[in-house]
Amino acid sequence: MIPPRFDYHAPVSVAEAITLLGQLGSDAKLLAGGHSLLPMMKLRFAEPAHLIDINKIPELRGIREDGNEIVIGAMTVENELIKSDILQAKAPLLCEAAKLIADPQVRNRGTIGGDIAHGDPGNDHPALSMALDATFVLQGPNGKRTVKADDFFLGTYMTLLEENEIMTEIRVPALAAGTGYAYEKLKRKTGDWATAGCAVVMQKTGDKVTHIRIALTNVGPTALHATDAEQALLNKPFDEATVAAACAAAIAICDPAEDLRGDIEYKTAMAGEMVKRALRKAWSRCA
Ligand code: FAD
Repeated sequence: MIPPRFDYHAPVSVAEAITLLGQLGSDAKLLAGGHSLLPMMKLRFAEPAHLIDINKIPELRGIREDGNEIVIGAMTVENELIKSDILQAKAPLLCEAAKLIADPQVRNRGTIGGDIAHGDPGNDHPALSMALDATFVLQGPNGKRTVKADDFFLGTYMTLLEENEIMTEIRVPALAAGTGYAYEKLKRKTGDWATAGCAVVMQKTGDKVTHIRIALTNVGPTALHATDAEQALLNKPFDEATVAAACAAAIAICDPAEDLRGDIEYKTAMAGEMVKRALRKAWSRCA
């Protein structure tokens, strides 16, 4: 399938891209890896008259440390996350989970910023960002603002990004030594989106959970931060009863859409299973 006709723009700085967004208004779309946008254009779900390609903006790429935070440029591709020594040392959840996204070809072009900005509840980075308590940096004509991952997603394909803004950075707090983590993702085959997924970041003291973040993929109109499930575990011993209570609380917030991956009952049950597996794996990794 061939996408509709569009004009192509290739700015070399964020400032230039923001100016173009201002000039072209709602007729324009940013082009990152193109692995969500171009399929939508081919299916005529999106018909932008202008594409602003942000691949030629070096300041949007790369992974660096800033104090206790890891700063990931929005145009950093999945394969760069997988290979990053900084992430491996400070936020290994992202390296591990990125390997479960799509296939090697998509991971070579698809960007973390595009994965988040697209607002697709089936994408994996929204829930991962919530579990990691990430902050997104959005830049527009009036400068920069920051938004917590928890607050960014408004609905399916709807986010807090304004038409004239670019996501420039994803900022992730470095995990403290001994933090457990896991991303469990049920998919029908390699390269598929999640039927249900669960990201967990956890710390323990003795037999008790002292820090916990749980977020779910593809079982609601957005990624879901499972705060009640967290409360079921926080400052309690990690045992069968508390894990069961956390799974029940996570299941209670699921509102998946029925599709070829399964009906509502199946997806909800699988979300509970992913929570259980992610919690156990994260606990086993806590030191
Ligand atoms: P694009 O497609 O270029 O852009 C997507 C949207 O985000 C557009 O509206 C664009 O304007 C906007 N945008 C992009 N970057 C920015 C920015 N910096 N600031 C503001 N707006 C921006 N994803 C998963 O998470 N898990 C999967 O399992 C998975 N499986 C896939 C399987 C296949 C076969 C394919 C084709 C894709 C799959 N994807 C999956 C999606 C893939 O990860 C996409 O790359 C990702 O959703 C979008 O990133 P992109 O860089 O390609 O963005």
